[in-house]
Amino acid sequence: MRWDSLRLDERQPSSGCQPQAGALFGLDALTRTIDTPEFRGITFHEVRAKSIINRVPDASRVPFRWTINPYRGCSHACYYCFARNTHTYLDMDAGHDFNTQIVVKINAPELARRELTASRWHGEHVAMGTNVDCYQRAEGRYRLMPGIIAALRDAANPFSILTKGTLILRDLDLLCDAADVTDVGLNVSVGFIDKAISRAVEPGTPSPERRLGVCAAIAARGLRCGVLMGPVLPFLTDSPAQLEATVRLAAEAGAASVSPIVLHLRPGAREWFLRWLGESHPDLVERYRQLYGRGAYAPRSYQHQVCDQVGALAARYGVGRTTPYRARRTAPPRAQRAAPDPGVQLRLA
Ligand code: SF4
Repeated sequence: MRWDSLRLDERQPSSGCQPQAGALFGLDALTRTIDTPEFRGITFHEVRAKSIINRVPDASRVPFRWTINPYRGCSHACYYCFARNTHTYLDMDAGHDFNTQIVVKINAPELARRELTASRWHGEHVAMGTNVDCYQRAEGRYRLMPGIIAALRDAANPFSILTKGTLILRDLDLLCDAADVTDVGLNVSVGFIDKAISRAVEPGTPSPERRLGVCAAIAARGLRCGVLMGPVLPFLTDSPAQLEATVRLAAEAGAASVSPIVLHLRPGAREWFLRWLGESHPDLVERYRQLYGRGAYAPRSYQHQVCDQVGALAARYGVGRTTPYRARRTAPPRAQRAAPDPGVQLRLA
């Protein structure tokens, strides 16, 4: 692992669920590396980061400029994960190491509070869960998010969270408190509802049904929760019936929006996903080659087709029209933008 360099720099191009501009770890950043019986097969590398609010490179097309990422690597282990390649900057691989070697920025809450109250900070929107999942299993042990959310709430700083983790429900009271004083954007990621495919391709995640349960629980508290419907997997989860079932259940869960995104196959995810595809669905390998070629994205015509279908289904099932949302009780103290929808910028490459 590249801990012997003077600093570990996460700065890379970013595009939602992607590597973000990053905190720097000094030579003394690694505090300890531990394996615990409750997390068999997973190693935690506890570090003290130098900063926690990261600037997204200007070239990035995402609608937010700042992120907080308390973890690197993700035990949710989705084969298609965009962030896999970021692990190679640590001299770890984008496959198994990404799933099992988790970097934990143990000082994230104290850094968040300090940076949010610094005079140079202007209260801009902060996105979380856009690189790796901030409510992955490690969060059950380290409990970093309550301190981060409390710091954002106390600063009345707008923020958003995108997750596949049910653990976010642990922090629902805090999120409600924060939503009373600032804009809070919540989204769960559910690309499809087929349990067998989910077990195979996103083996460490709660089931799609449970993720939609998270959406329903959030909506029941009067908070808006969108569904990032990604990734849609060509030839595996893109039939009209599959798209309809997913949108219908999202609507029933009280989703405020449904934002589709077709599978991206960037370096890291590409090798890992195509290896899984070759082993599990060898009959589809040639079709994927034809669809993606050597690139990372399916043709725009295919992406438009999926987006149009999902848009029509969302309208038919009344997504966003069924749940009354509570109004914020207090106006934010500074001029702030509403929380952006992380799906918007991800739909098309
Ligand atoms: S939950 Fe998100 S960050 Fe984690 S492996 Fe899956 S796609 Fe990647």
